[in-house]
Amino acid sequence: MSIRFDGRVAIVTGAGTGLGRAHALGLAARGAKVVVNDLGVSTDGEGRSSEAAEAVAAEIRAAGGAAIAHGADISSEADVADMVGQAMAEWGRIDILVNNAGILRDKTFSKMSLADFRKVVDVHLMGTATVTHACWPIMREQKYGRIVLTSSSSGLYGNFGQSNYGAAKAAMMGLMNVLHQEGARDDIRVNTLAPTAATRMTESLMPEDALALLAPETITPGLLYLVSENAPSRVIMGAGAGSFAQTRVYETRGITLTGDDNTPEAIADRFEDLSDPTDQEELVNAFSQTQKYARNAAEAQGLKLNWGT
Ligand code: NAD
Repeated sequence: MSIRFDGRVAIVTGAGTGLGRAHALGLAARGAKVVVNDLGVSTDGEGRSSEAAEAVAAEIRAAGGAAIAHGADISSEADVADMVGQAMAEWGRIDILVNNAGILRDKTFSKMSLADFRKVVDVHLMGTATVTHACWPIMREQKYGRIVLTSSSSGLYGNFGQSNYGAAKAAMMGLMNVLHQEGARDDIRVNTLAPTAATRMTESLMPEDALALLAPETITPGLLYLVSENAPSRVIMGAGAGSFAQTRVYETRGITLTGDDNTPEAIADRFEDLSDPTDQEELVNAFSQTQKYARNAAEAQGLKLNWGT
């Protein structure tokens, strides 16, 4: 069964170049009407130009698709309201939101100014929240929405010199987990993409032969699946050079200490035990952790607890 987006309206942020451009072209090629957003800044977030967004929108139209360009700064509420307003005026709905725009301001934590920390959090986390917040009531009203947040291996696993970026990218997972739960009743599905691609952001970090393999277009099929009609929800998909994988967070079964045995020394003694991955599980929500611990404690103390399963 082929995946199509006919009749669907998509916003792709940071779509003037790199991954966002590939995603916008991929959506348009399969029938979506696309709002090509880009502020046209340098990799560290300086400057402003609508040229890149306009060029990609023109490319889509030249290929027979439908696109409008918008130069909103995703971290500006007023800019975003204008962009979402234009999309609604033009096409009357927003089905797909690809939060992709981003910048870097790398430095070791000891050398990083808080201004650079704040700026990166502002663009990645607040920018994603701002655009998503503007689209959310529209998707709820439609009872349909597909949202992708863009994370990074830097946020999931850590990367030297990227405390600001890593923190902002890890926040995507937290935002996804909650929006997944709040969106479910209105068929709003929320997923996270953790790409690795050859773009201007990374071109100085990799050898030529690796860059050739890591073209942004190799990632876009994963993005298209995550925003499709039958998309999953609450998935963190790693993607690059044609490899696709899921990142998951598991909790070990753990140990339970009661009364006078609940000491830091007992935890030190049994640290290996509490870290044992046998029977580790992916918890479905915050309260499943609370219920698990309350149940463990009740069982250890021979009590009966009527809460959770
Ligand atoms: P890129 O620099 O090629 O593209 C980012 C685009 O976002 C640019 O066109 C830029 O003008 C735009 N942008 C920046 N700030 C904006 C703002 N405030 N409002 C609107 N547009 C803005 O980078 P890319 O490599 O294509 O990265 C795309 C996304 O993927 C980013 O979120 C990035 O952090 C993430 N990512 C990339 C890689 C990689 O290997 N390239 C790895 C992990 C995550």
